[in-house]
Amino acid sequence: MRETRRVPTATDFRQMLRAASLRVTGPRLAVLSAVHGHPHADTDSIIGVVRGELGAVSHQAVYDVLRALTTAGLLRRIEPPGSVARYEARVGDNHHHVVCRSCGAIADVDCAVGFAPCLTASDAHGFTIDEAEVVYRGLCPTCVLNT
Ligand SMILES: [Zn+2]
Ligand SMILES: [Zn+2]
Repeated sequence: MRETRRVPTATDFRQMLRAASLRVTGPRLAVLSAVHGHPHADTDSIIGVVRGELGAVSHQAVYDVLRALTTAGLLRRIEPPGSVARYEARVGDNHHHVVCRSCGAIADVDCAVGFAPCLTASDAHGFTIDEAEVVYRGLCPTCVLNT
């Protein structure tokens, strides 16, 4: 778990949208910034952050922006078993997640091998496998202390 990347600015967010051939709009900038600032946030939390910045924005508008940004590859949507969908801005690096079984906290875990798929299937059934989705589970440091 490392977080060495610098915090992107509004200018960076504009460039990301343009590079993905998306028109730059207030809601898109606000959602990108919210997800960068709150990795693994669920939709409701993102709506809360975006409303804090822009005022009244409909649920549907935020859903639409999340879908467009995910389709464009600017955001990654993850849905750990037993959890609602969550979004993050760390895309394209095959990292995994560790999920706390008690409180649901999520953290990034770098790919064990460095490239996908980082597990070798014992039987590929003739498939050409290019990805393995790994979810580590356990108790986060806070929950360990409270048990
Ligand atoms: Zn926990
Ligand atoms: Zn992540």
